[in-house]
Amino acid sequence: MDNNCQNKAICLAPWTHAFVDLNGIRRLCSESREELQPNLTTLAEYWNSGYVKNIRKQMLNGEIPAACIDCQKKKDSHKDYFSKKLSSNLLYEIERNTMEDGSTTLKPLSYDYRISNKCNFKCRSCNEIFSSSWELENNLHNIPSTYKINGEVKAFQKDILEKEFVEAIKAGAIEEIHWTGGEPLKWDLHWQVMQFLVDSELAKNVFVRYTTNLSNLDWKGRNLFDEYLVHFKGFQIRASLYATGDIGEYLRTGMTWDKWVYNLDYAIANTKKDKNQEVLLEILFTLPGLFDLPQIIKFASQRDLKLEYKIYEDLENLPLMSPLCLPRDILELLIDNHTKLLFPEASVNNLRIIKELIALKKKRTLQESYPDEWLMILKKSKEHLLTLESRNPNQLAFSQIIKTNVMISSWWDDI
Ligand code: SF4
Repeated sequence: MDNNCQNKAICLAPWTHAFVDLNGIRRLCSESREELQPNLTTLAEYWNSGYVKNIRKQMLNGEIPAACIDCQKKKDSHKDYFSKKLSSNLLYEIERNTMEDGSTTLKPLSYDYRISNKCNFKCRSCNEIFSSSWELENNLHNIPSTYKINGEVKAFQKDILEKEFVEAIKAGAIEEIHWTGGEPLKWDLHWQVMQFLVDSELAKNVFVRYTTNLSNLDWKGRNLFDEYLVHFKGFQIRASLYATGDIGEYLRTGMTWDKWVYNLDYAIANTKKDKNQEVLLEILFTLPGLFDLPQIIKFASQRDLKLEYKIYEDLENLPLMSPLCLPRDILELLIDNHTKLLFPEASVNNLRIIKELIALKKKRTLQESYPDEWLMILKKSKEHLLTLESRNPNQLAFSQIIKTNVMISSWWDDI
């Protein structure tokens, strides 16, 4: 028992958590890094499979599995969430409930099932895997798909995942749900499950987490906060934000900024802000979004909101959305300017962002990653971006957002 408390390799996720991504791949959790192919297995097949049994054995032996190394290095890690916040009492149970071969009699209490890409937004950094709106748009314009959920995976989501999730809900076996997708607040299944949990009075045992675009808080005249969350053990709302105002609307087609702010303020007003209720902003910094950085920080600090953020580093989907598409000298200058701007107000949020920006300097730029093809990649990306912009002529354009920075503006013109 005490050994498990001191065994730093142990994370409770392999004993308590069921995760499936939008490609139908079961993994230990959203943070684990495994090279796995779509396996389309049932939870029963996966839970005590050779792979998971091995992970449990490794952890009990004090070894950190390769898939967990990055996560376990982080502060406030996912591991801490599962092992300290969610079900810390189980640390005392796992050994008793784990056989020598790593199989366990424990069942998942926490579900993160990404079972639909239904989403009403088309964020420029996103693709068809995560957004049905992108899927529709690409079909409409006959754009061949690089990222697509295939029919077999869609059938698996409907026929297997939905069923086993609903069965676990009905059995009262779930203590935590992470709702994310796609946009979960646009799914009927989400609302039906929440309604069942409220009607059956099981909601008081369940903590719900949302990663949401926060565009919609109502279903059939019923409000997420007033009619549902008020009955739950607790909740965390991670509202995604890429930029404020017009730049925000540019980055996320489908977003109406004023409505979004209204929803966020409604969420804040209906959240107690204690350990069981929290609203935070999850920010993805794209290259255009960096031009809105001071406004984002001001917006969050006016509401006293915690920020979590990532910098968009994907150079495959739409490279021009990533700051790493810039030549190194321009990128470093942009980062230096931002850090100077943020530094005088050394709040926790600012210091974290500064750290993140400085870390970006150590990443390989597009040109460094693809020394022979980078210019062709940029030209294709610009052509694609201009096509997308031509479909929304009333929105801002990339060139307008970046025009305050002469170097970046002339780099854009030269592409
Ligand atoms: S250690 Fe981290 S990556 Fe591994 S299972 Fe736990 S939460 Fe997931």
